[in-house]
Amino acid sequence: MGRSTSKVNQYFRQTIPMMVKNNVPVTPPYYTLWFTYTTGELPALSQRMDDIIAQQGQCDRYTCDQLLDEYLLNSAEDRLVEMQSNINQVVKSIGSSTENAMSHAHDLNQSLSADIQLMADEALQNDTPSAHKMVSMARDFMSKTEAYRCQLEKQNSEIDALKQKIAETEKLMYLDGLTEINNRKKFNEDLSLFTASTEDTCLLLVDIDHFKPFNDEYGHLVGDKVIQTVAKTLEQSCNIKNGVQAYRFGGEEFALLMPNANITIATQFANDIRERISRISLTNKKTGQSIRSITTSLGVAQFKSGEALDALIERADQCLYEAKNAGRNCVRPALAS
Ligand code: GH3
Ligand code: MG
Ligand code: MG
Repeated sequence: MGRSTSKVNQYFRQTIPMMVKNNVPVTPPYYTLWFTYTTGELPALSQRMDDIIAQQGQCDRYTCDQLLDEYLLNSAEDRLVEMQSNINQVVKSIGSSTENAMSHAHDLNQSLSADIQLMADEALQNDTPSAHKMVSMARDFMSKTEAYRCQLEKQNSEIDALKQKIAETEKLMYLDGLTEINNRKKFNEDLSLFTASTEDTCLLLVDIDHFKPFNDEYGHLVGDKVIQTVAKTLEQSCNIKNGVQAYRFGGEEFALLMPNANITIATQFANDIRERISRISLTNKKTGQSIRSITTSLGVAQFKSGEALDALIERADQCLYEAKNAGRNCVRPALAS
C-alpha cells in the first residue's frame, strides 16, 4: 500500500460524495471500485469511468457491476482488506474533526447495513463459499466502523468535558470573589478589546460615597453586603443596556464599559445607575433596622483615538474626583478637549 495517512484520508473523503452523486450505494465492493478510481491506481479503469461519466452523465450501480467484473473481481476480497486498513488509518488520524467523522461513520453504517442484508440474502441463495466470505467480511467491516464510531463518540464527550472544565476555570479567573461580577483582570482585557474595535467606548467609574462609615457603624459583613448589592444593581443595569459590562475595580469602586456609546448617552446611563443605587433599601439582619441609603459618585470619559488606556482611566478618575468634590451623589463627564 504505502500511502500516507493524509492521502488516504483525502481519498476517503472524496470517494463517498462521488458515489452518492452517481447514485451508487455505499457497499464494500462499490466502495472498493470508487476508491480505486479516486486513487487512480488503475489508469485504465479511471479512464473508462471518466468516459462513462462524460457520455452518460453518471456511472450508475449497473455500470459499476460490469466494471467490478472486468477490473476488480478477482482481487475484490484483497481490496476489501485493504479498505479496512485504510479506514483504520483514517479514523486514527482524525483528531479535531471527530464529530464530522462520527456522522460519516454513522452514514456509512446506515447505508451498509441495508446492503449487507441484501448481500447476505443473495449469499444464502447462491450458497458459494466466496459469497459467504464476502458477506462475513462486509459484516466485519461494518462492525469495525461502528466500533470506531463509538470510540470517536467517547473521545468527543471527553473533549467536551475538557472544554467545559476549561470554560469554568476561565470564568472563575475573571470573576470577583465577593460580588461574582467581572473582576479587574477582565476589565483590563475588555478595555483593550473594546477600544481596539470601536472609538465609541465610554468608561464609567463608580465609587460608593462615605463607604467607610458603613463598616464602622454596621460592621464589615454589612459593608460586604452593601458592596454585593451595588454590584448586583450594576449588573442588572447592564442587562437592560446592550453590550455594557460591569466590573469590580477594587474595594468599593466599580467600572462600567459601554461600547458603541458617546459621552452624552454614557452620562445619561450613569445618572440612571446613580438613581437606581440610591433607591436600594437594605435592612440590618442583626437589628432589623434599615441601613442608611447608599449613594455613589461617578466619573465618565469617552475613549479618544490613539489615547493610552491609562490616560483614559485617569480622565474618568479625575471626573469621579470632581463629582466627590461637588458634594457626591452626582455624575461628572469629561468634556471634549
Ligand atoms: P468617599 O465618599 O470619599 O469615597 O469615602 P469612602 O469612605 O467611601 O472612601 P475611603 O476610601 O475612605 O474608604 C473605603 C473603605 O472601603 C476602606 C476599606 O476598608 C473599605 N473596603 C474596601 N474593600 C472592602 C471590602 O471588600 N469589604 C468591606 N466591608 N470594606 C471594604
Ligand atoms: Mg474609593
Ligand atoms: Mg468611596
